[in-house]
Amino acid sequence: MIDPFGRTINYLRVSVTDRCDFRCTYCMSEHMTFLPKKELLTLEELDRLCTAFIEKGVKRLRLTGGEPLVRKNIMHLISEISRHLRSGALDELTLTTNGSQLARFAHELADLGVKRINVSLDTLDAAKFKAITRWGDLGRVMEGIDAAQDAGIKVKLNAVALKDFNDLEIPHMIRWAHGRGMDLTLIETMPMGEIDLDRTDQYLPLSLLRTRLREEFTLNDIPYKTGGPARYVEIPETGGRVGFITPMTHNFCESCNRVRLTCTGTLYMCLGQEDAADLRAPLRASEGNELLSNAIDEAIGRKPKGHDFIIDRRHNRPAVSRHMSVTGG
Ligand code: SAM
Repeated sequence: MIDPFGRTINYLRVSVTDRCDFRCTYCMSEHMTFLPKKELLTLEELDRLCTAFIEKGVKRLRLTGGEPLVRKNIMHLISEISRHLRSGALDELTLTTNGSQLARFAHELADLGVKRINVSLDTLDAAKFKAITRWGDLGRVMEGIDAAQDAGIKVKLNAVALKDFNDLEIPHMIRWAHGRGMDLTLIETMPMGEIDLDRTDQYLPLSLLRTRLREEFTLNDIPYKTGGPARYVEIPETGGRVGFITPMTHNFCESCNRVRLTCTGTLYMCLGQEDAADLRAPLRASEGNELLSNAIDEAIGRKPKGHDFIIDRRHNRPAVSRHMSVTGG
């Protein structure tokens, strides 16, 4: 699949549920209204959609959410999709998780061929963790990380950089993550969906954080890539890598290789734009995949050049109305 700007689309992110067992303050409001369960695609439909994308050239697939591991019978879907790993059609199946359910699932995930996962973790302080996630328990996430590493899964941590929340703690998080053989990626907060707080109070440009990190560490730019938008540095003092995802201060849309599918079968061609294509209707309209395949082609043909997020006092409205939990991180 090649979009109008010549970019090859070979990476699909699938939000398997909009529900989550956390309520991170920058992601959701505390009282979120979720989709009625009957709106969701069945696991069989999700598998059919994923398979159609793989047949059209998707080589990497990431399950996300909401929290992917709270979707009922999610391991059944992962087990079905894993056949494409075994056949060689898919290069990588991975997921982004808050880690709360990992202790239960890590070994099964490893057995099904999941080699890498991203765990979202914004602080190592239990009280702060509770405050930012509203409902989370740091101890359970730590058990999840232990279980994943024990199962041989490579864990990467993702932390959203938040002003006056974790900015001073990030050097400690880097040392801790690298000490355990994990890379850490820092993410700028994006204006997606209404939350209960003012995003200008949370937004921390990574350019600023990078300057501060330079006072403590040597940051050597490296060409390392994992298929996502992060740009990496290596830190000789710790021997590990730090990634920077900077949708606000510097977007990398020119190298965007991905599209995002929601749990209702809506395809978003860009995280930061409203335009979307409904794939549920063509999926359900016939048992064959011709209509679906045409709808996917038509959608890829509309993939926009990029997004343009702004957070400041004048632009203090979400750039897109949907929350990150709809399209997944
Ligand atoms: N529940 C899973 C998790 O916690 O990783 C997957 C979904 S979550 C929406 C994916 C990632 O998006 C998390 O790392 C989360 O911190 C991040 N995220 C959520 N809202 C965000 C926002 N407004 N700006 C930047 N990152 C955000």
